[in-house]
Amino acid sequence: MPLIVKAVVVDLDDTAVRYIDGLNGFYSIWAEQGINRELAEQATLELCDEFCFTFENMIARLRRHNPRIDPPALLRRLNTWFAENLQSYPDTNHYLTAWLQEKPVIILTAGNAEFQWPKLRSANVPYQEVFFASPADGKARYLHALMRRFGTPIAFIDDQGENLDGIRRHGMTAAEVITFLMRRPDLPQKLGSRHYHHVVRDFCEVNRLIQG
Ligand SMILES: [Mg+2]
Repeated sequence: MPLIVKAVVVDLDDTAVRYIDGLNGFYSIWAEQGINRELAEQATLELCDEFCFTFENMIARLRRHNPRIDPPALLRRLNTWFAENLQSYPDTNHYLTAWLQEKPVIILTAGNAEFQWPKLRSANVPYQEVFFASPADGKARYLHALMRRFGTPIAFIDDQGENLDGIRRHGMTAAEVITFLMRRPDLPQKLGSRHYHHVVRDFCEVNRLIQG
């Protein structure tokens, strides 16, 4: 029997949107600037952990490795790569728009708002509200607040098993938050999860389970 959910909470990266070329183009732009992939990946991870990833901050952090970097020119290249490569999945707009007719659709993304907002706009992702969870906060506390606001059950869709496991670790049951592990077929396999989640390939599969 289809489940009736009070709200749908959706992760952004690799769930609703993706980069067409993965991050290969992004790292090759850095390589052309004399910054090898290892350094660029490390800076990306650090900035994400510090909740302040933007292209500007990454340039500021890495330019000491190559004094010939021209920040404005590099920023233009990175922004062009971003605009040409960020895309929503073909099912995203259709299902999020349909769900929005009946219930709140909340985007819950881990990342700095300054960098995440342009993704939402550029990929034209439909939503009612957006929350930006810092790595320190995690996503569970937002789910808790949304549950109190909208009632249960709530559907939560994310490509990171760790984010979904966090919901169970914080005591929210499968009757309260129905968790969907998004496994987009075009992306490399990720780590598994400790708890059970519905594994789906797209929002169409989610829709079959949550329509009431
Ligand atoms: Mg994600």
